[in-house]
Amino acid sequence: MALIVQKYGGTSVGDVERIENVANKVITNRKAGHQVVVVVSAMSGETDRLLALAQAINPDLHPRELDVLLSTGEQVTIALLSMALHKQGWDARSYTGAQVHILTDNVHNKARIRDIDGARVKKDLREGKVVVVAGFQGVDEDGNITTLGRGGSDTTAVALAAALNADECQIFTDVDGVYTADPRIEPRAKRLNAITFEEMLEMASLGSKVLQIRSVEFASKYHVPLRVLSSFKEGNGTLIGVEEEKMEDARIAGIAHHRDEAKLTILGVPDQPGVAYRILGPIAEANIEVDMIIQNISEDGSTTDFTFTVHKNDYQKSLQILETIAKDLGAERTLGDDKIVKISVVGVGMRSHAGIASTMFQALAKEGINIQMISTSEIKISVVVDEKYLELGVRTLHQAFHLDE
Ligand code: ADP
Ligand code: ASP
Ligand code: MG
Repeated sequence: MALIVQKYGGTSVGDVERIENVANKVITNRKAGHQVVVVVSAMSGETDRLLALAQAINPDLHPRELDVLLSTGEQVTIALLSMALHKQGWDARSYTGAQVHILTDNVHNKARIRDIDGARVKKDLREGKVVVVAGFQGVDEDGNITTLGRGGSDTTAVALAAALNADECQIFTDVDGVYTADPRIEPRAKRLNAITFEEMLEMASLGSKVLQIRSVEFASKYHVPLRVLSSFKEGNGTLIGVEEEKMEDARIAGIAHHRDEAKLTILGVPDQPGVAYRILGPIAEANIEVDMIIQNISEDGSTTDFTFTVHKNDYQKSLQILETIAKDLGAERTLGDDKIVKISVVGVGMRSHAGIASTMFQALAKEGINIQMISTSEIKISVVVDEKYLELGVRTLHQAFHLDE
């Protein structure tokens, strides 16, 4: 007998029939003798619908009230799933995040889980009940409802699995595992049987939204065996775990892409110590996260050009700040471009294999794709290119690293 935490995403609970399908899958596990805790998302499109309603009232969203609103989506699904289980004669109980004490910090809209009191869940499980928990939500110390950021139900599931010491956390979604690239962009992408936490973390941070980044961080930190599976198709899915020797020959795990970044440049800044701080300091003070950074010094060393990327949502605000900085520093001018994408190659094998970067740059050059920025870490290489090259870029790299074989 195992204790399994299963999470079903928006598409998997998208209508009544699909909710009944989830109930059947849960029952199959109960019949096999397992204890099951289910975490569900809002029905597909629901969170976006609620967000649009809030925006229609006031585009300047109130963080606390937005959480009160968005958390209702998941509350609908927990009740419906429990009813579907009752209908088939199984004892089930639904709980909101607050009811199972998913305690978070007070950062509305992107709260972090601090603690979960698993006592109530454990008691229900001992009594043979199926426990159904609303994903994506928690409660802060003062009793305010919080949410964990888009895709946050993944993190609820992993955190619950860690708190309950579950044998496995299973993330059921609309694809049957983690692929070598987003199958919506590269139809020839292949499902991976296994991927390391480290690689999955990079893939998620570089744009593969199949798992929320924090869920992978949590799973890695608390050693929760994590698996991504399809709600609609049988199979073993992808196991996310620690590195094994046989993984070593897989030099590249996959290609990730990210459409949500924008690029800003400040040209002809008189170069002197402290310039980077004077440019990025005000950006950081405005709570804007910077991703890639490039600095180039002019031939005579007197001026420098500085380019960095931010989230698209912060683009206009960053541009305004940069214009003020340019005046203060006596820079020549500023430039901005939000029609870019970041494409990344990820794999732990990069540590022990040379030539990955040159293969990547050669493949892109052959297709006439101009690279605007480059950044690397031990297990990834990212490039920024014009957004019109998204599909071509991903497919070219997928082929260059023989990921379709
Ligand atoms: P859910 O609503 O179940 O949480 P998501 O939409 O958040 O589902 O995540 C599943 C989607 O992630 C897939 O439909 C797929 O388009 C996308 N995706 C992006 N990169 C990958 C990848 N490398 N492997 C699998 N799916 C990916
Ligand atoms: N419903 C939330 C979202 O759409 C959380 C989730 O689905 O994981 O982002
Ligand atoms: Mg998701």
